[in-house]
Amino acid sequence: MAKHIKFSTQVNQNFTKAARYTRHSSGLLKQIKICNSVYEMTFPLKKDDGSIEAIKAWRAEHSHHKLPVKGGIRYAANVNQDEVIALSALMTYKCAIVDVPFGGAKGGIKIAKWKYSDAELERITRRYTYELIKKNCIGPGIDVPAPDYGTGPREMAWMADTYGAMGEAKLEALGCVTGKPVGQGGVRGRTEATGRGTFFGIREACEFEEDMKKLGLTKGLDGKTVVVQGLGNVGYYAAKFLHEAGAVIVGLAEYEGAIYNPKGLDIEAVVKHRKDTSSILNFPGAQNLDDTSLALELECDILVPAALENQITMDNVGRIKAKIIGEAANGPVTADASEVLLSGGKMILPDMYLNAGGVTVSYFEWLKNLSHIRFGRLSKRFEENVNTKLLRSIEDMTGKKMPEEVFREVVLGASEEDLVNSGLEETMINAYHEIRDIKMRINDDVSLRTAAFVNAIDKVAVTYLQMGIFP
Ligand code: NAD
Repeated sequence: MAKHIKFSTQVNQNFTKAARYTRHSSGLLKQIKICNSVYEMTFPLKKDDGSIEAIKAWRAEHSHHKLPVKGGIRYAANVNQDEVIALSALMTYKCAIVDVPFGGAKGGIKIAKWKYSDAELERITRRYTYELIKKNCIGPGIDVPAPDYGTGPREMAWMADTYGAMGEAKLEALGCVTGKPVGQGGVRGRTEATGRGTFFGIREACEFEEDMKKLGLTKGLDGKTVVVQGLGNVGYYAAKFLHEAGAVIVGLAEYEGAIYNPKGLDIEAVVKHRKDTSSILNFPGAQNLDDTSLALELECDILVPAALENQITMDNVGRIKAKIIGEAANGPVTADASEVLLSGGKMILPDMYLNAGGVTVSYFEWLKNLSHIRFGRLSKRFEENVNTKLLRSIEDMTGKKMPEEVFREVVLGASEEDLVNSGLEETMINAYHEIRDIKMRINDDVSLRTAAFVNAIDKVAVTYLQMGIFP
């Protein structure tokens, strides 16, 4: 068994490696690296049977160089302070990489979610929100949580409602969390955003023919084989969009086991099968892998770990066959295992870039909440009218009628979802080019992770320097 290295130590190791390629003073680098504050709390839960349980939780605010700070809340039995700090640091770097003007934060509640009723989960979530309000750790201009492992729109709606009910930040109250249901101030496209961003990132990486050639692969996604670990929010949507773009999903892993079919798996059918049987195992035509971790070692072009951290370690790294590892989860590959993969000529698309789609669209949701208007509301009909006039005059000039379905497609003004998805696509493509350019500028041997860190450190440093704190 390989020695376990703390998650925050691993993030800091990666930071230190990248800092060598920057020119900032050691004091400034220390300020950027360090976690600014952590709030650890314990509060009582009255369970449905009348008993009392003490619940432990955290909120880490890694960097206040920009406000609000932003980051998800995770519900997991093994969440701990170190993990929350490490994840909050990744949020700072992630926001910088995709030019989202927030500092990094992360929260966690130490519970095995399945042990609690919905009513108990609601009481836990509302009390956690109340504790954050008491300590000024939540608010549209202070700290804006979002969903993460074990949480989703439902929990975010409870948080927003508690925050609003406490009379906080009246007009902007809905901007206190993102990832809310659309009817409660959410934005269309947020649920799919992290998986969609993962897809955009992988697709962009595959567009560089020379990079693919070095991996022994051809350009583009079409026909590439993919294994996805975790069929939750991020994994499901990443698999779905990769599949729709022509990649072949040959393996899927969940905690109960994994399935493999070299001819490809139909994602929607697997999801339905899991709903009907409570397991992905025994899916028609697929081979079962009872040890779910073996899915990581399957033959494939692209491996997408989308469950939790520390999945590829020194224990299994030697058996990883994928040529591209797309880190959809946070921290799925340990720092030492990353070194082994890179020296074996593999490509790692780093978490703080690849799963930044969630925070990017969260930013759009926050902007929507502050502006109190749906994206596209003012422009959609106007665009449609202008496009109609344009097409009609082309028809008049050419004397040819445009087929009705083409006409409808071209005329359509942008809806909120169109704008969100296109903003996300633009963000993920630009960010990949920035990171790749830095890698090429420093030295092609430098990893994309190191290049991403250099990018993030430089951007955070500029903010500090412009504040004039370090003359
Ligand atoms: P989720 O709870 O929706 O899904 C996680 C899935 O992984 C679950 O279905 C769970 O059963 C499965 N799983 C757990 N352990 C497993 C194992 N050992 N093998 C196979 N499957 C396993 O969580 P999520 O929101 O999809 O988050 C997944 C990862 O993505 C986390 O690392 C999270 O921090 C990261 N992330 C999420 C978001 C987001 O917007 N939700 C944004 C950025 C990063």
